[in-house]
Amino acid sequence: MEQVLKGVPAAPGMAIGRACIRRQAGNRPSESRAANPQEELAALQAAVERTAAQLREIMSRVASRASQKEAGILNTQLLALSDPLFMDSVKALILNDGCAAEDAVGRSVLALTEKFQALDVPRLQERAADVRDVGQRLIRNLAGPPDSSPPEAGILFAANLAPSEVSLLEPAQVAAIVTEEGSATGHAAILARALNICAVMGVKDALARVCEGDAVLVDGTSGEVVLHPEECTIERYRLGHGRQQAELERLAAQRDLPAITLDGFRIELAANIAGPQGIAAALSAGAESVGVVRTEFLFLGRDTMPSEEEQFEVYREIVSGMAPRRVIIRTLDLGADKELPYCPLAHEINPALGLRGVRLCLRQQHIFGAQLRAIVRAASFGNVAIMLPMISDISEVHRTKEILGRFAGRAVPLGIMIETPAAAIMASDLAAEVEFFSIGTNDLVQYVLAVDRLDDRLAGLYQPFHPAVLRLIRAVSEAAHRHGKWVGVCGEMAADPLAVALFLGLGVDELSMEPGSIPAIKSIVRQTRRSDAVALTEELLALNSAPQIVSRLEQWSPQL
Ligand code: PEP
Ligand code: MG
Repeated sequence: MEQVLKGVPAAPGMAIGRACIRRQAGNRPSESRAANPQEELAALQAAVERTAAQLREIMSRVASRASQKEAGILNTQLLALSDPLFMDSVKALILNDGCAAEDAVGRSVLALTEKFQALDVPRLQERAADVRDVGQRLIRNLAGPPDSSPPEAGILFAANLAPSEVSLLEPAQVAAIVTEEGSATGHAAILARALNICAVMGVKDALARVCEGDAVLVDGTSGEVVLHPEECTIERYRLGHGRQQAELERLAAQRDLPAITLDGFRIELAANIAGPQGIAAALSAGAESVGVVRTEFLFLGRDTMPSEEEQFEVYREIVSGMAPRRVIIRTLDLGADKELPYCPLAHEINPALGLRGVRLCLRQQHIFGAQLRAIVRAASFGNVAIMLPMISDISEVHRTKEILGRFAGRAVPLGIMIETPAAAIMASDLAAEVEFFSIGTNDLVQYVLAVDRLDDRLAGLYQPFHPAVLRLIRAVSEAAHRHGKWVGVCGEMAADPLAVALFLGLGVDELSMEPGSIPAIKSIVRQTRRSDAVALTEELLALNSAPQIVSRLEQWSPQL
């Protein structure tokens, strides 16, 4: 029977397909016993062969899409399939303890990963991640029908997906993502949008309600997931989606028009991209520049850190692809929800407040130095600026300048992200040190309100329009302008139609967003009078709660 589940709209679009369920290995309490150990062994053997074939297939796809090195991570998993430490343990559990194959794999994964992790040796911790990944695939192959990959692109269901897992998804194979956890401002969602895979996250009990192979409709724009959709429901969603597409096409026609208000105030609309694959989308959406390259996404889905040379090649491709437009390359923002298998981070009780962004880079100067050098070299091929994430102290800017001062080559403008309350409060001092600010509202909102941006249970408390956030943004914008520096916004709020008048009123100079959002935001800019936006913003800043501010904005722009 048709059933509608609600979640957080995380990446727009609509998809219809069959459910493919990704279960976590090693955390399923299962007491299942084997009726016949020999049959279990045979099933295990068949699943191992299927898993190996899938890994080889994905390796060849990944290798043709990006660098050969990216396939390395899958090769390591292939090796784990024949690792005696792992497979002997699985077989022993089947033969000696009478476990079902699926259960034996789960238990072996758990035992091995715990053992590796306890040793605190980075190399072994990486191996633990490989064993866990390959174990999950094995379990899926044991549990699912003989060919669990659907003929058409499937709808991937999972409890949670790490950004590194999303980065390995093939849009041709995965039509949509549905997860039980996650939020629209998490990096898994940001990557799904970059890959154009529609997604709904934070869908409670999704895995308990769906079965492998079920027909599913996903509307990533409204956040609805329909299980067993009826024909008339599909038709209704198709119509809605068709209307949205038509509207997007209408807006795309304004691609070459400037983002200028009715009274002549010009704001720059830039693109957030995750790598060279974002260039085409940025250009076709009419982006005037790239406001942030999230470089950490280039480092995901591989088994080694990219060398300076490799990074240089990638940055050069982006910079020359966008030339003469400016490209702001953000230095590595690892930590929190972004982890690399080859750069294991120490366990942190509260990773969002831990060693992330520029803090980590300044501790790992060989990584930071190689990245900065690669950016400086790429700067000869176009218009480049460097941006530092997670600044919370002026010494972080001084120390970065010191490192940059050691390199020969042209001076590259240096800017910072304003995403901690400390940076916002110190904006005046920081503005004297750098060329520009870009306000990272995803993190600024999380840190100002002390609300985890990844926790869907707190979604109601995560309020970008909270007066504390808006008043800080105003202070930052004024501080930048007093020093003759420009200020942009590159968090998800930059793409919120409701926020356009506010940012125009605050005098923000640049808005950077997923390329797909640029046409709609431009259209609003072009219908707004800046003098009205300034007056409205004055009024908004005097209000003292987010619901009041939001409702005033909604009232002001009824056409949105
Ligand atoms: C932000 O925090 O708003 C931002 C743009 O950075 P990220 O989402 O990558 O943390
Ligand atoms: Mg951030």
